Amino acid sequence: MKLGSLTKKYLLALALIATLSITAFCIVYQVIQTQDTYASIINVSGRQRMLSQKAALLSSQLLHCKNDTEEMQIRNQLYEVKSLIEASHRGLLLGDPVMKLPGDPSPEVQAIYYDPPVSLDQQIRTFTGHIDSLLNEPGQKLTLNNPHLVYILTAAKGDLLQALDKAVKLYEAEAQNHIKMLQILEVIIVCLTLLLLLFEAFFIFRPMIRHVYKETSLLRNHNHQLRVLSSFDSLTGIANRRSFDEYLANEWKRTTRNSTWLSLILLDIDFFKYYNDTYGHQAGDHCLYQVATALNNSLHRSGDLVARYGGEEFAVILPDTDSREALIVAENLRTEIENLNIPHASSAIANYVTVSVGVASTLPTQHSTPEEVIAEADQALYKAKQSGRNKVMHYVKYFNT
Ligand code: GH3
Ligand code: MG
Ligand code: MG
Repeated sequence: MKLGSLTKKYLLALALIATLSITAFCIVYQVIQTQDTYASIINVSGRQRMLSQKAALLSSQLLHCKNDTEEMQIRNQLYEVKSLIEASHRGLLLGDPVMKLPGDPSPEVQAIYYDPPVSLDQQIRTFTGHIDSLLNEPGQKLTLNNPHLVYILTAAKGDLLQALDKAVKLYEAEAQNHIKMLQILEVIIVCLTLLLLLFEAFFIFRPMIRHVYKETSLLRNHNHQLRVLSSFDSLTGIANRRSFDEYLANEWKRTTRNSTWLSLILLDIDFFKYYNDTYGHQAGDHCLYQVATALNNSLHRSGDLVARYGGEEFAVILPDTDSREALIVAENLRTEIENLNIPHASSAIANYVTVSVGVASTLPTQHSTPEEVIAEADQALYKAKQSGRNKVMHYVKYFNT
């Protein structure tokens, strides 16, 4: 699958999860709001019940007032209770922001308020109407037979109380149902979110990670190839000058630490310009390849490194090798090339390809540099050329093997 389409899917899934999360948040918010609103409704409707009882109590107390002051207090209290009953009733039906009542009751609640036989609305109106009438009666004339008082006491203990109870229970049931519905919705949203995450993990993340893994391993291979290309000489297949420099610098440090010998061999094909002139450049390339391969195959120690130093020159690094051992290796390399027996008709010293070899050995220190040993090997090589070619010369001793 293409990375672009995966990214699109990923973004889509993220957007969906974000939407679901916002929805879940809204539902939680709604649950809290609903709980708050229903708490107010249940509180106010429960209070109506309590107020009806208080109205009945105050009404009966009017009969036994000791003096006018007490009667006035009770009348005031009764008036307040009646007003609160009316206000709460209005609030429950039409809404009241101060009491946090939303109004707009459900059809079931409306049925309790308006439909016979309960018709709570009518009952409350009649009940408060009787309270009004009772409050208008002069106190001295009040008796237990007063029709308004009789109605208030009977309703408060009977029909009105039952109707108010019914309303409270209905409000409670509605609150529970509403919250349960929201909770179910929330569970559905959570399940959907989890499903979506699962879908994302399987169909987006997995292919995406595979894609990244594939690309990474491709990149790793490319890097490796690049490293190989930048370390090896393309014509001969052996280490190039860059690798030579790196390797020599490292071995220089190591042998400095260990105080061991390091030897360097420089080899140069004799009369190679003539070889090219005689056999052509392509044959010259092939000859370079043959010489390089032979040199490489002749080194057996893992620390030894042969590199193409430039043109038709090769260099061999021999770590932990003193001059005596290096001269043996150098002579061996010279013979190996001779033994290749590559025809070289235009050579002035043999009728096959030969190499001249310069060797330098040193005990590297912090005060000496790799360039010094290279220069010494180069001088030895120069001597080998001067003294007839196809020879091995050592920098210090300048002896011919
Ligand atoms: P001497 O014995 O003094 O070393 O003589 P020489 O001819 O080998 O040395 P000179 O420096 O005069 O010539 C080196 C030649 O090597 C010249 C150049 O064309 C050839 N050469 C360098 N690199 C390559 C290469 O990659 N392929 C081929 N075919 N020839 C190369
Ligand atoms: Mg040369
Ligand atoms: Mg040469």
